[in-house]
Amino acid sequence: MRPAFCYSHECMGGTVLDGKRIRDEILGELRPRIEALTRRKRAPALAVVLVGDNPASKIYVGSKIKACEEIGIRSVKVTAPEDVSTDELYRKLEPLTNDQSIDAILIQMPLPEGINAEKIVSSVVAPDRDVDGFGEVALGRLVLNRPWVRACTPAGIMEMLRRYHIPIAGKKAVVAGRSDIVGKPMALMLLHENATVTICHSRTQNLAEECRTADILVAAIGRAAMLTADHIKPGAVVIDVGMNRVTEKAEVQRLFADEPARLAAFEKNGSVLVGDVEPKAMRELSSAYTPVPGGVGPLTIAMLMANTVTLAERRLLE
Ligand code: NDP
Repeated sequence: MRPAFCYSHECMGGTVLDGKRIRDEILGELRPRIEALTRRKRAPALAVVLVGDNPASKIYVGSKIKACEEIGIRSVKVTAPEDVSTDELYRKLEPLTNDQSIDAILIQMPLPEGINAEKIVSSVVAPDRDVDGFGEVALGRLVLNRPWVRACTPAGIMEMLRRYHIPIAGKKAVVAGRSDIVGKPMALMLLHENATVTICHSRTQNLAEECRTADILVAAIGRAAMLTADHIKPGAVVIDVGMNRVTEKAEVQRLFADEPARLAAFEKNGSVLVGDVEPKAMRELSSAYTPVPGGVGPLTIAMLMANTVTLAERRLLE
């Protein structure tokens, strides 16, 4: 029988790391905590702020609110138009800051151009309601490896690695991407689990060579199928965070030549979701990988729910 994790050539032809399964596990564990809170005090409450008309943001906010409804978290949606000024937005959101019935506040990014995002987030989202873990206190505590809610996407990836019993300590991890919301916190979380971590970015000299050193490769770049067989060490665990919509038929045919279902989906919808890693290379070379969709994406929302419950417990029970 194949061992749980071996990081070797023999373990190529990767295990699918099923984000939906892990999401369901996490949500299942949250339900009794939410029920207990609701019984003893009230349901946890998340405020979600959507500014402007960004179609992707609208979809993300819709999914977050739906997840709240399904699990028993109260959600409050606050919207503002695309042309709102920073001051007007602040005035609109100010009541949230004093509203004791709200446990967590999420401001959907990106905010429209012209809004001072840093000012809005720092003045509206107090550290004890920072459900995304993007604020200075949350990030400082992450650097220091002190308990706090963590940024949802990398925290979800850590949950996935843990629940699939993938060893991290002593392994070489490469994180491609250094954003404040994915790459940097991801690198720190892997470091705290005793991986030896390299962070790559747009100025990295030889990306393929760096990536090929990885036992655990995390791709968080935002460019469809940019990492290829050249970037993957045989037997590596590959975590593909990227979510890129591809609309070019020739590119879709190249990427999914051996996946008729994806080609059919493209014909029907006119686009497909592609990660940052070439799907075939990832499937064939890795020992385990997260598919796109169905890998990292479901975990982000699950961790948002988990962070909301944690903040509510702190507010209501401690
Ligand atoms: P950002 O655009 O903020 O960051 C991208 C990073 O990739 C930057 O650090 C950038 O480097 C680096 N980069 C860009 N081009 C290259 C290149 N040619 N070579 C090496 N590095 C490069 O993106 P995010 O971190 O917000 O998101 C990354 C991806 O993850 C996106 O596809 C996004 O949609 C997806 N995502 C998915 C989530 C999920 O739930 N599944 C959640 C969040 C994000 P530099 O800093 O030098 O510019």
